[in-house]
Formats: sequence, structure tokens, C-alpha cells
Amino acid sequence: MLAVIYVMAKEDFYKILGVEKNASEAEIKKSYRRMAMKFHPDRNADAPEKAEKKFKSVKEAYEVLSDAKKRAAYDQFGHAGVDQSMGGGPGGFGGGQGDFGDIFGDVFGDIFGGGGGGGGRRRSNVQAGSDLRYNLELTLEEAVGGTEATVKVPVLVACKACSGSGAKKGSSPVTCSTCQGHGQVRMQQGFFSVQQACPTCHGTGQQIKDPCRPCHGKGRIQENKTLSVKVPAGVDTGDRIRLAGEGEAGVNGGPSGDLYVQVDVKEHAIFTRDGADLYCEMPISFPTACVGGQLEVPTLNGKVKLKIPAETQTGKLFRLRGKGVKPVRGGAVGDLLCRVQIETPVRLTKEQKALVEKLQSSLAGGGKQHSPQEHSWTDGVKSFFDKLTG
Ligand SMILES: [Zn+2]
Ligand SMILES: [Zn+2]
Repeated sequence: MLAVIYVMAKEDFYKILGVEKNASEAEIKKSYRRMAMKFHPDRNADAPEKAEKKFKSVKEAYEVLSDAKKRAAYDQFGHAGVDQSMGGGPGGFGGGQGDFGDIFGDVFGDIFGGGGGGGGRRRSNVQAGSDLRYNLELTLEEAVGGTEATVKVPVLVACKACSGSGAKKGSSPVTCSTCQGHGQVRMQQGFFSVQQACPTCHGTGQQIKDPCRPCHGKGRIQENKTLSVKVPAGVDTGDRIRLAGEGEAGVNGGPSGDLYVQVDVKEHAIFTRDGADLYCEMPISFPTACVGGQLEVPTLNGKVKLKIPAETQTGKLFRLRGKGVKPVRGGAVGDLLCRVQIETPVRLTKEQKALVEKLQSSLAGGGKQHSPQEHSWTDGVKSFFDKLTG
């Protein structure tokens, strides 16, 4: 019964599809698509018969190799295992000739935007509106304290004159005469029948004979919408506030998109923000650093007094608990961190210079004790050079 003799001149299915014997299902499908494109009538207008023959064998090979059962039979018994005329193969395969259109529907459904061989399935013409984004610049104070912002956004809204239908008042869209409302048409191309979006109605299935003037039949018009946005306290750059339904209007009664207001916090003259904490640089005078004192420190909600202890060094960080930001998503209020910067006095008078010089010699008399850091640094540099030369 095993008609091994029947191998004849029939080409190997793997060879036809240009794949290896151990090719995966995906590889086979991919190759089939490529072959189908290659032998598509659009590309073979000069030799349609040859292309048809080629395609038929590609299709035959694919029908076997894409079916696990048939492929196994083919692998074991060769063409005899799957050829119906031999009656030997499990299942065999039909391979009628009248269904090329459907094959192309399957292969090209996504390329042509059609309904995948479903036979004139109408594409829905109801579309949701797009989401929109608006960049909202805020000062640090507004971001931290919350605010009510007014935003003007250009949006497509449903045309009032035609209630979004696109047809002139008093008229309404009619069923497309080209596709009878299916939105899709079958085009005969040589021996292939290909399903495509209807060129008359662009797939909507409806035609507007008398377009609405204000919207030119589009059903939507551009408008500047003014919205009031409640910005909660604690927002930061990159945070988004969603205004449901305030985006673009949908098409043919589809739902509107959303408007996303994206926060962008401007730089502040004094503070920089890092999450819930605020930072600032705090210049203090040389005498204050020496003998201590009291300073007024700015915070986002007024001034606070800060005690500077005697012998404060530059770079020291003072933490003012709870003077930072309350995060918008909850959590502890951050701190304000002030970094001390000792300012060297400038534009000294003769008298002041003399006083500083007097101070200088007095300090020098005290040896290392008045400036331990300077001396340890000098010692470090000295030993560094000693090592280099010695
Ligand atoms: Zn209109
Ligand atoms: Zn149509």
C-alpha cells in the first residue's frame, strides 16, 4: 500500500517553501507569506499563469506543513502520505481550487486592513477620540501648595451643526452604494479575489451626499477649550493629572479621549527639590560662623529662625524637619536642608583690613589649634611631596 514509487517529479514541500526540514511553525508561516507576496498577481502582471502555478504549489506545501498531522505523515511517507489520490495518508488534504481568495484573505487580511476572509464583515466606524497631553508649567510654590490652573487646549469636538454626523442639517448619511454598507469590497485581480476597504466610503459603509458646512463633512471641528484644572498639593515634574473625557471627541458617537495635564515645575531662585526634600544654599558671614548667631531662613511657608552654633564650618548641612514637601501620593512631609556657605568679606576698609591682619597674627600665634583642618591638610601635602621626591 505504501506507494513509494509515487515520489515522481513532485518537488519537496520544504524546498518549495524554502525552509529547513526542522523549521518551526512560525518560520513556515513567515515563508508562506513571503512566497504569497512574491507570486501575488499585482507583482506578476507579465506572467500571471506562471505565478498561478507557483502559488498553487506554495499553497499546497503550506497546507501540509502547517498542519502537524499532515506534516508528520508527509515526513514519514513523502507525498504519498498526504496525497488524496493515493488514499493512503491520514486525513489527506482537499486543496480545492476555488478558494484562493480566502487564502489571500488570510494571508493579506492585515495588510489590506480587511476582515480576514470573513466574507464582507463590516468594519465598525465608531472610533474613540484620541487622548491629549498638555504641558502645565508651575512654580515650585504652586506645585507644593496646590493650585487651580486654567488651561486652553485645542481639541476636536463634535460639530454642533450636524451633531457629529458630518451630514448637512436635515439630511443624514446614506448607505454606501459601492459596498452596500459593508465597508469592504472584493476586487478581482487576475485569478485572485482580494478583499479591500471600500474606496468610496473608506470602510465606513456610509456616504455623505450633502456635507455639513462648518465641519466639511468630518463631523468634528477644532476648538479651543478652556478648562480649569485642580492641581493637588505636592505634585512634581512628570506627574500627570487625568481629565476623563476632555480629550478629542470620538467619531460617530465614539467615546471622547482623555486629557492628560503633565506638570513641569519651573526652577526656583532659592530652592531645589529632590522628592519630598527641599535644598538651599545659605551664605553666612565669617564672624557669624566664628562666634555663632541666629539667622532667618526662608521656607515655602514663611521664615523660620535658625540658630547657628559657634565654629560652624562651610558645607555644614542644617536640617529643618517638616519644612519640605508633602508628597501628593501620601507619605511623610519632607525636610528643608540648608547648606552653609561662609562668605569671605569683600570691599574691606583700611581699618577692617588692619583688624583682620591683627586677627591673623593672633591666630598664627596659637599654632595648630585654631585651624586643625588646614594644618592636617598641609601635613598631608607635605608627606605626599616627600614620598614623591624621596
Ligand atoms: Zn458638521
Ligand atoms: Zn462603501
